[in-house]
Amino acid sequence: MFFRILEMHSVDKKKNPSARATCLNCMDGRVQLPVLNWIHEQYGIDCVDIITEAGMDGVLALQDNIDEIIRSIKISIDINKSERIFIVGHYDCRGNSVDEKAHREHIIKSAKRLRTHWPKIEVIGLWVDDQWRPDICYKSLKLELKTEG
Ligand SMILES: [Zn+2]
Repeated sequence: MFFRILEMHSVDKKKNPSARATCLNCMDGRVQLPVLNWIHEQYGIDCVDIITEAGMDGVLALQDNIDEIIRSIKISIDINKSERIFIVGHYDCRGNSVDEKAHREHIIKSAKRLRTHWPKIEVIGLWVDDQWRPDICYKSLKLELKTEG
């Protein structure tokens, strides 16, 4: 019974093989495959558009001009039909060398900033730890029905 449920669960995840996502990640080579594998395992998504910067979470949270990143996300969503945005911050990031607490704050701030551009797209923030394990630190509702504050 246990195995049957697992099997049904995995089939359910893969029922939309054309599903697509957008991943805003650091350019660090250590963090790419752990995140892509995690997205595949958790969401059954094989096709992920990857946009990178050195310390992406810091760039999205702190930099005024993010036009070039917005341009790439637009192509991913409007043309490639991505339905989800992932924002990643990670352990030992040389492009945004802050502690874990600050990374998590940057990830949340980044996610909320992108929600203002795409309020109907699900935005998921991931913290990747020293074992290269992604952990959800922010998840928007697919459609926000209540306002904050
Ligand atoms: Zn990094």
